[in-house]
This record gives sequence, C-alpha cells and structure tokens, in this order.
Amino acid sequence: MASQRDYYQILGVAETATTDEIKKAFRRLAKQYHPDRNPNKPQAAERFKEINEAHDVLSDADKRKKYDQLRRYGAFAGAGRGTGFGGGGSSQGPDVDFDVSDLGSLGGLGDLFSSIFGRRGGSETRVEDEDEIETAISIPFRVAALGGKVPVTLTLPEVCPTCGGSGGAPGATFSTCPECRGRGTISFGQGGFAVQRPCPVCRGRGKVPSERCPTCQGAGEVRQEKRLTITIPAGTEDGTRLRLRGQGAKGRGDVVVVVQVEPDTFFRREGLDVIGVVPINLAQALLGSKIKVRTLDGKRVVLRVPPGTQHGQKFRIPGQGIERNGRRGDQYVEMHVEIPEKLTPEQEAAAKAFAEKTGMKH
Ligand SMILES: [Zn+2]
Ligand SMILES: [Zn+2]
Repeated sequence: MASQRDYYQILGVAETATTDEIKKAFRRLAKQYHPDRNPNKPQAAERFKEINEAHDVLSDADKRKKYDQLRRYGAFAGAGRGTGFGGGGSSQGPDVDFDVSDLGSLGGLGDLFSSIFGRRGGSETRVEDEDEIETAISIPFRVAALGGKVPVTLTLPEVCPTCGGSGGAPGATFSTCPECRGRGTISFGQGGFAVQRPCPVCRGRGKVPSERCPTCQGAGEVRQEKRLTITIPAGTEDGTRLRLRGQGAKGRGDVVVVVQVEPDTFFRREGLDVIGVVPINLAQALLGSKIKVRTLDGKRVVLRVPPGTQHGQKFRIPGQGIERNGRRGDQYVEMHVEIPEKLTPEQEAAAKAFAEKTGMKH
C-alpha cells in the first residue's frame, strides 16, 4: 500500500522541483526517519522505505519522466490527479490497485503501464478517444482543499432519438453510399502515406438514407445538455484532471474535467500546508499579543504572538492544513508587521525617545 502514494508528496516537494531540491528533501527526511534514529518505530521504518523509493524514482531523470507520465493519468493515489473520487455512480478514477514497488527494477514501469492501460509495455503514446470530452471548471480554494461536490453542465452529443443514430427519416430506405462505395472510409494521399478518414457523405455508415432524419439532419446525433455532479476530493490541486468514465458522448466516452482552483483571499497552499498572512502592528510585534486566526474549516483559534515577533515569521497551528490519504498538513500564520506611515509630532517624539533608549540609529 505504501508504495501507491505520490512520490512528490512523500518527499514534500513540488512537481516542478529540481533534482537538487529533491536530493535535499530526501537527505533531510532520510535523516529524520532513519531506522537507527527511530528504534522500535515501525512507522518510521515504513516511511524510510517510502522516502527511498520516492527518491530512487524522482532522482533519475528517465524514471521520473515515466513516473510523471503515469502520474498525469492519475495512476497514483494522491497524485493530485483524478483518483479516488466517486460521484454520479459511474464516475471513477483510473485504476489505482497495483503495486509500484518494482518501479525501480528493470522493465517495472513498462509492466506497470500495461497493467493500467492494457497495452504493450513501454508504450507511452496516449490514444485519444474521439468520444472523450474535456471541460474545465473553476472551483473555490476551500472546496479544493476540503473536498466537496460541484455541479457541471455539459453539452454532449447523444444518439438522435428520432432515427436512433441511422440518420434516416422514419420509413426511409438505405442504399450504398456512392462516395465510399459502402466502405465508410475514404483515403487521402497515396501509397504508404494514405490517411483514412470517415466518409463525409455517409458519415462512416457506408449507407445513405433516401430521406434525411428531420431531427438531426442526417447526423445521427443531437446535442443535449447533461448535468453532472462532480465529487472533488479533498486536497485537489490546480490543474487536476478528473476522469468521469462513461459519462461522455453517447454514454461511451469519458469526460475529463480539468480543475482550476481559484485563489483564496486569505490562504495559499504549499503541499498539504496552508499559509495565511495576518497583519500585526508594531506594538504587537514588539510587546507580544493575542490574535484570533481563522482556520481552513472556519474555526477561530487564538494565537499567542510572543514579544519580539519578526516580520514574515511563521507560526504553526498543527493539524489545520489539508487532509489527504490519511495525512494532514498544518496551518501557518505568517506575520506581517505594519509600520505606521505617518506620525503626529507627539508620536514622533515618542519614537525618537524610544530610539535613544534602545540606541537605534536613525
Ligand atoms: Zn436523427
Ligand atoms: Zn460514404
């Protein structure tokens, strides 16, 4: 199970991390979870194994490239891609029940690849499904972080209810298409370079009706609005592709929903952690204070700001970050010290006196 986790998450690095950043993250974590330092802690040993595995793949440019490709298909739980969500009954993430522990071994990725896609090992080209429909949705930061349901309306081609897809009017007779002579395809180009395309006259059916269907004008399909409810898993990242199997055109193809996460006015995200900036005044920074801070799920917590707090200093509220695959991030409160822009003569005198007392140059 452990090895199905997302390698980037395991190392706590961004997808765009450089080899150097990956190395650094690995060294730090490997030190922290080394079995010698954690005797009698099986979880640490497990984590250590994961860290090594993640590093093994991400530090090797070739393995990383292949891994990234698989990851884009949502092959790994928690990969920030379309996995593990369920909604509307038949929507499912891609297969996630496989073991990638042999990823490092020879041919591991190829076998893995074919086990996911049922194709020859090593094949990396994606066969575009012509019935696949891609759509983009924009969701609020909080929905992405905490998970939720989002309605989506799509306009999809459906089989024409009048002709059942034949393109003929009720009672029409069909004859062999004169253009393609019934083959349903025509070719462009010559010899080895010929390209086959569906015949435009009969639309690939090989037969033409004596009279066209009045509903679809012979197309055999009509465009219909379809409402879907999409389940957004907690911790969904910007750019995540969620695949809704069998929800696409004519109930066959998939709908791929590309999720755009709207920025939040307060929070920003780093992995599973969330960071919010809180302004404090000079006196609070110098003398300390108690401030109220909002958490991701709307709770209010009181944070003690110690005397001598620096601008940009971060305070951690444990366990108030994003939860994903049983792991929970933290919330960080970043202090921004606000300096008064204007002083009254009286205030200026006080500030000068303070500067004298503390020996501050000005
Ligand atoms: Zn029709
Ligand atoms: Zn034809």
